[in-house]
Amino acid sequence: MTYDDDNIFAKILREEIPSSRVYEDDDTLVFMDIMPRADGHCLVIPKTPCRNILDASEAQLAAVMRTAQKVARAVMVAFDATGVTVQQFNEADGGQEVFHLHFHILPRHADVSLRPPGKTGDMAAIQAHADRIRGALGG
Ligand code: 5GP
Repeated sequence: MTYDDDNIFAKILREEIPSSRVYEDDDTLVFMDIMPRADGHCLVIPKTPCRNILDASEAQLAAVMRTAQKVARAVMVAFDATGVTVQQFNEADGGQEVFHLHFHILPRHADVSLRPPGKTGDMAAIQAHADRIRGALGG
């Protein structure tokens, strides 16, 4: 399996399509999921190409996990969450739909289920949630 430069997250990285950005450093970018399964659902990706954990380098994985921890801690504060789910899928049969490595960060609360996948969220709400996470990150 080879990396396809035209995948949607590559286009987000190149700013060819818009996204609600939350955080970036030299190696990683965090932006809001457009079909949030929980308030504050965001995605952590490496800035360099790889499909998923099967072809990622140790450096890409280390950078993404460092950022995932940072953002997981921030969403706990931003959403007064009592837990956080980190999800990651590999290849179509593993549930992956976009073939640029990404980790889902999902703030969780007691007795609140994740919403079903595939439903586009309200853009104003998503933007407001991005602002909250950014605030918790000190940005
Ligand atoms: P996965 O590949 O892990 O199954 O899921 C890909 C994720 O990307 C889904 O949660 C989906 O809602 C999200 N997604 C798909 N297209 C876009 C998009 O154009 N912009 C953003 N921000 N997220 C997207």
